[in-house]
Amino acid sequence: DAPLLTVTDLTVAFPTRHGPVRAVDSLGFSVRRGRTLGIVGESGSGKSVTSLAVLGLHTSAEVTGSIVLDGRELVGLPERELNRLRGRRMAMIFQDPLSSLHPYYTVGEQIAEHHRVHFGSGRRAARRRAVETLGEVGIPEPARRAGEYPHQFSGGMRQRAMIAMALACEPDLLVADEPTTALDVTVQAQILELIARLQQERGLAVVLITHDLGVVARVAQDVLVMYGGRVAEHAPVDALFADPAHPYTRGLLDSVPRLDDPDDAPLRAIPGSPPSLLAPSPGCPFAPRCPVAATATGAERRRCAETRPPLVRDRDRLTACHLPLRSGAGTPGGAR
Ligand code: SF4
Ligand code: MG
Repeated sequence: DAPLLTVTDLTVAFPTRHGPVRAVDSLGFSVRRGRTLGIVGESGSGKSVTSLAVLGLHTSAEVTGSIVLDGRELVGLPERELNRLRGRRMAMIFQDPLSSLHPYYTVGEQIAEHHRVHFGSGRRAARRRAVETLGEVGIPEPARRAGEYPHQFSGGMRQRAMIAMALACEPDLLVADEPTTALDVTVQAQILELIARLQQERGLAVVLITHDLGVVARVAQDVLVMYGGRVAEHAPVDALFADPAHPYTRGLLDSVPRLDDPDDAPLRAIPGSPPSLLAPSPGCPFAPRCPVAATATGAERRRCAETRPPLVRDRDRLTACHLPLRSGAGTPGGAR
């Protein structure tokens, strides 16, 4: 069956005094129902910009390319229609639930309001559905907790409440941007399990934005690694972890503690900083930080610095690198 969400050649450019800045450049991916795509990258990689673009929340940016949700093109859709889709078809959860929960209304009232708006439920039915939804996301004593205010909830409970609110409109697509970043490790694991369960039970398509590959390993089936607003590598999660092809992916993997070995070598952050979007290099955006390029021949190094590596498919993996790490991941023209 066709993917629920298909993004093709997506470019998001913000106007600045120095001209348009492309925060996302020529991005493509798709997500099926019942699957989770993890989008990974450092801050400034364009991952949050991508998630907002999918929901049509970039009012000041120029968005080009195509975002098709269940057969319907979203790019260029009037705000009124996008707004309706955001209610019924797609929902978003953020890192900070307090930014989406109103402090002056009880959690139950806020979720009930969603049921009323989206399904025209009566007051009593909406209230009952709100309590049920809170129960579904694992909030104990949901009838009592529904009468409490957001500040009376712990961080993890607030995140559950926000997920409950997102689910109240029964979306097909859930976009989660760093949903567990502010939480401690135990609560983080519980929230990820909840998202994975809902994805399966409800056949949701999930786009999970994170800087943390450990999070991706727990819930995603596919991973898109972004660097400098572009795809660095896109692969099924097992293949990517077992055998990364892009030097940046390798660097990210080296900087997360191994889940199966807590005593593993300490974190090694990738030296250097993300590329400037104001003055993008004509070559590979990762070139100034790339350990592979650093030890390559002069001609190879020049190619990395001067020529943008095209996205090349090798079975179910896409990689944008002139000198991929895997044997068998070919370059166009078979230079290696
Ligand atoms: Fe490194 Fe060159 Fe590959 Fe870019 S194209 S990731 S600089 S080896
Ligand atoms: Mg972000």
